[in-house]
Amino acid sequence: MNILVINCGSSSLKYQLINSDTEEWIAKGLCERIGIDGSQIVYQKAGGEKETTVSPMPDHTEAIRLVLEALTNEMTGAIKSLSEIDAVGHRVVHGGEKFASSTVITPEVIEAIKECNDLAPLHNPANLIGIDACQKLMPGVPMVAVFDTAFHQTMPAEAYMYGLPYSYYEKYKIRRYGFHGTSHSFVSKKLAEDLGKKPEELKVIVCHLGNGASVSAVKYGKCVDTSMGLTPLEGLIMGTRSGDIDPAIMEFIAHKENKSIDEVMTLLNKKSGVYGLSGDFSSDFRDLEDAYNKGDKKAEIAIKTFCYRVAKYVGAYTAAMNGVDAIAFTAGVGENCAIVRTLVCEYLGYLGVKLDEEQNHKRGDDTVISTADSKVTVMFIPTNEELAIARETLALV
Ligand code: AMP
Repeated sequence: MNILVINCGSSSLKYQLINSDTEEWIAKGLCERIGIDGSQIVYQKAGGEKETTVSPMPDHTEAIRLVLEALTNEMTGAIKSLSEIDAVGHRVVHGGEKFASSTVITPEVIEAIKECNDLAPLHNPANLIGIDACQKLMPGVPMVAVFDTAFHQTMPAEAYMYGLPYSYYEKYKIRRYGFHGTSHSFVSKKLAEDLGKKPEELKVIVCHLGNGASVSAVKYGKCVDTSMGLTPLEGLIMGTRSGDIDPAIMEFIAHKENKSIDEVMTLLNKKSGVYGLSGDFSSDFRDLEDAYNKGDKKAEIAIKTFCYRVAKYVGAYTAAMNGVDAIAFTAGVGENCAIVRTLVCEYLGYLGVKLDEEQNHKRGDDTVISTADSKVTVMFIPTNEELAIARETLALV
């Protein structure tokens, strides 16, 4: 079966066509600058080179039409006709409390996703446009929505409630939801598989450290806490997001710098994190590591503050689960940045964590990076959100 996975952002769209039997991708790419001048589509067939084509894309429907054209192109296409696409899996960012698992898309499901728009005003509308465009261009093909929030719906109330008046939860559903659920679910299951155990036997902490970053506590296969909240701004220090701060800082900055709420929000989402900490130098850990190695003080502070926050969450989640059997690092930084894993694990000696530095400096697939006598197994595990979405889609159609 061929499953097309679509991940629609406000002005971009990532796609991957996956053969669900082999679990290999057949073609993948992205559309950039949708609705903006200079839009382009990147397309790559398995075993082939990346091709970039500049083409006007006034909206997502045109972007998806170009994706389907590229996939079925006579010369370079991965399939002969659209009839070879058996199902489409859509990443949807916010499922609120309505969706605790993936679901086949029906008119009722679309209405329910719309009702979550308030909770993710930048993301959900883009996801819905992607769904609508695919339905128009591929009528009759089954479609599935896979939610970033769904895996975290098993959190107990004490983990998801804020210390705010209860009426705000009742009126507006203000609570913690968590994101990156597809990745936390995929990696926690993969970790159990790698250790030859069932998820139900393990207490696991997953550190998804990418440009966006979050930690989750997965106890016996179910998420019991995660570091992102109502929005992805809460929790870890990220590429450009501040993560947890004293909320009074918002008012303080607004007064001092004469900024509106919207401007302060942009500051916290786009100009903070390791980017802001490094003195607006870079949000990319490759740049930060280089600068740190050359003695740059701000890059050092950015990396160390980032790692300290991760270690604090690992400690908190060990308490939440009354223990931890294994810790997994994943996503761009978690999979590739050995120094981050070293600095985080230096705080975890009290748990009996012992890192094998030779293993820690390896690259590639799932790797155990703790020593044989470490009380907690530590691994890095590449995440694969597209494959996870394809699996969910396959299971439902
Ligand atoms: P993601 O959001 O998962 O795609 O992660 C993107 C981030 O991963 C980049 O901004 C970098 O900070 C980081 N990253 C990617 N490759 C490397 C690498 N080889 N070494 C260190 N950090 C990396």
